[in-house]
Order: sequence, then structure tokens, then C-alpha cells
Amino acid sequence: MGKGTPSMGKRSSGKSHIPCRRCGRSAYNIVKGTCASCGYGKTTRIRSYSWAKQH
Ligand SMILES: [Zn+2]
Repeated sequence: MGKGTPSMGKRSSGKSHIPCRRCGRSAYNIVKGTCASCGYGKTTRIRSYSWAKQH
């Protein structure tokens, strides 16, 4: 198995992100205890960037 998209499906060794209780997205990192989407666990303010589309 080489690099590339086809190998992505093989990475099933546990889940790293679970649904976030604040933003609802499956971006809450269990190991780090932070949400990659809204920054839950890392900051009390909502993580937001101007380059990120919000809706
Ligand atoms: Zn979140």
C-alpha cells in the first residue's frame, strides 16, 4: 500500500475526533481534549478565523 487517497480508508485504529459538545462537529480531539473546529477545551472564546467560512 502506497501513499495517496486509497490508503486513507485503512487508517482505522481508533477515533481521534468525536462530536464536539459546543459546535457539534466531529472535531473534538480526544487525546488533546480540544476541538479543532471551535477551540473547545483550548479557549473559552469561539475559535474563528477570517479565512474560515462560517455559516
Ligand atoms: Zn467544537
